[in-house]
Amino acid sequence: MLNPNALGLRLGRILAVGVPLGPFEDLPLACFRSSSGLGKLHGGADCGQLRSAPAVLSLEVPLLSAVGELCGHCAWPVPGEHPFAAYTEAVSSLAPLGVWADAGGGELELLMEVGAGRADPDAACVGWRRLQTQLLESHAVVAAYPWLVPWAGPVQAALAGAVERARRNLALLLDENALLEAACAAALPAPEFEGGPVLAAPGPGGAWLLQEAWARWQQECVADWTGLEAGRSAAVSAVYGAFGSRRRGRAEALDVMDRLVDDWNGRARALAVRHADGPRRPLTIDLPPLLRGCSGEEEDRLTRWEAGVLAVHQVAVHWPGGSADLLVPRPVADRLLRGSSLTADGEGRSRPDF
Ligand SMILES: [Zn+2]
Repeated sequence: MLNPNALGLRLGRILAVGVPLGPFEDLPLACFRSSSGLGKLHGGADCGQLRSAPAVLSLEVPLLSAVGELCGHCAWPVPGEHPFAAYTEAVSSLAPLGVWADAGGGELELLMEVGAGRADPDAACVGWRRLQTQLLESHAVVAAYPWLVPWAGPVQAALAGAVERARRNLALLLDENALLEAACAAALPAPEFEGGPVLAAPGPGGAWLLQEAWARWQQECVADWTGLEAGRSAAVSAVYGAFGSRRRGRAEALDVMDRLVDDWNGRARALAVRHADGPRRPLTIDLPPLLRGCSGEEEDRLTRWEAGVLAVHQVAVHWPGGSADLLVPRPVADRLLRGSSLTADGEGRSRPDF
């Protein structure tokens, strides 16, 4: 008998017929039912649906027999620390999978289409990462309750198919070479700022501004999947920042910066050309799920460049572990292993560093 001292769980809504109950099949559930023996099983004698009953009987029913007959309005008291409470929470978290199964996969396709967004890589990326996160989380839940595998497995397989189609849609929208050029930008050694074009700037001065612009250019190139032009905007913004409201000398400084960025971009492109057809390096990456805040906001630990690289260069994915095999040009591998939120863990393998 469950201790009537805790959470009120609406078991009639959580436990659908067919959800494997594992060791909880024989759990005795305290119920109330009309003395007619007809109608649902209720969690309380005061349920509105029992109002017209001639009399109300109290009885204990093994959970397996009760499922399918449970009132959808009633809550059953379950101690918060009882393993059954955690199990029902896990089943609730898998409810979206059940909805997709009932829809015969149609809902899945719909979600994928919405997420893919066709021509919008941002929407396509969010859609892909959401489906991927859903699948990662469902595998974590099922790993804790392995008797759920026969029930959840087929839907997880369908979801894995949708994740893969969403990934391909994103990959089609991205420019593989832009990702490589960005990695090459990040790999370039800092140029010799002394003796180069003279850039006069207020405040800490021209040399400081050049280093600041270079750092921003490198950083911004690998923050996005659009390639080197994002870096130019970042370098130019450093000039605007240094001059503030001062206009004197700013146009000349912007000219110098533009020519410098042309030079930096040229070096990155030359390096990319050398590696474009070079040997690829195999890497295995653990896919990090999206993070969700308490109010439902999402945060992706992958930068857009990292997400783009995963989408474009994935050659295999492994479930339930949620790792992906990549084949990437060497500068991309170097950046993933050394400079990103994904760090090396052993030979050729990387794990998210959080
Ligand atoms: Zn009821």
